Amino acid sequence: MNLPVQTAAAVLSPKQTARLELDGLRRSFGAYTALDGIDLSIEPGEFIALLGPSGCGKSTALNCVAGLLALSGGEIRLGGERIDQLEPEKRGFGMVFQSYALFPHMSVRRNVGFGLTMQGIRGSEADRRIEQALALVRLESQIDKLPGQLSGGQQQRVAIARAIVIRPPVVLMDEPLSNLDAKLRLEMRAEIRGIHDQIGSTTIYVTHDQDEALSLADRIVVMNQGRIMQIGSPQDLYQRPNHIDVADFMGFRTRIAGRVTSVSGDEARIDVAGAQLTGTMREPLAVGDAAVLSVRPEDLVAVEDGSGMPATVVNMEYRGRAFFGLAKSADGSDLYFRAEQALPRGALATLQPAAGRALLFKGAGA
Ligand code: ATP
Repeated sequence: MNLPVQTAAAVLSPKQTARLELDGLRRSFGAYTALDGIDLSIEPGEFIALLGPSGCGKSTALNCVAGLLALSGGEIRLGGERIDQLEPEKRGFGMVFQSYALFPHMSVRRNVGFGLTMQGIRGSEADRRIEQALALVRLESQIDKLPGQLSGGQQQRVAIARAIVIRPPVVLMDEPLSNLDAKLRLEMRAEIRGIHDQIGSTTIYVTHDQDEALSLADRIVVMNQGRIMQIGSPQDLYQRPNHIDVADFMGFRTRIAGRVTSVSGDEARIDVAGAQLTGTMREPLAVGDAAVLSVRPEDLVAVEDGSGMPATVVNMEYRGRAFFGLAKSADGSDLYFRAEQALPRGALATLQPAAGRALLFKGAGA
């Protein structure tokens, strides 16, 4: 008989949780430095997303924590004890990969039980834990099937059950939803956070999808070129990126270069080809400085009062609530913007950031 899920979650909670500390992690591949000094302290039970563009070192960092890759420098500590010299099995972390990495010839039961067998846990205790893990991912009825008889989403649930059945203090997930279709991704996202909350393990989740990171994580770590650019809550990262590359990654796609003409409190105004645009300063700026205004497409709006910066419409798409377009400024920059009505290709639009929605960073040579 299956236990209720609450009971299952209680039994699957990690035996112990502890702070995980990454201290100056470095990893090179030959002359190439993939991780260039990663410092991060993760509280027990925290959900951390590692976010960044392809090749920034997210998977390398995760694999170093898992023990699948050796460090070139730095330390990893769990509860104050160094673990970076330990084999992956000794660390006892659960892992979920993009490719489900299930054994095709083993039943769901044996796949989920594999880690328990490795730990010498067999018999009724193993059965109980396997059933509980499968109850958590709602797959009790599929226990005797082979992976090939399951859908992609079900296979990834099996992989999650396999990761949590060993009661790991830390669960590591590397883009676990990328192989699933958009609707299933949304459902599984909610399930992953639900399971995390129920069992109380620490989770580190690698993704290049900002929506996934925003919706799942307690804290997001934005990486670029092997370094951490910013660490913060989803709200912090979304509203207050502290670097223009982080802003870019958080959806502030349009960059407009200009020169500061006035500063007032935390806002400044820049002149762009005669138009005056206002933004919130994320770095200190003074009158005369070169600056870059960074704004999301939905917050750069086509206005009719002529107050915005002129740009030539290249393309427009209807997206339900509004039209979104691409325009070129006189200097050839790409400007992604929103409009209430379709504008013909080649038309001259004037674009103005919505009040309080644009950010200002130092420009080249500032
Ligand atoms: P993605 O989202 O595309 O998976 P990532 O942020 O996870 O990217 P990593 O896989 O960590 O990036 O790779 C970081 C860098 O290290 C890349 O430039 C990659 O080419 C390089 N790299 C990773 N593994 C190796 C390896 N085994 N040998 C050589 N270079 C490697």
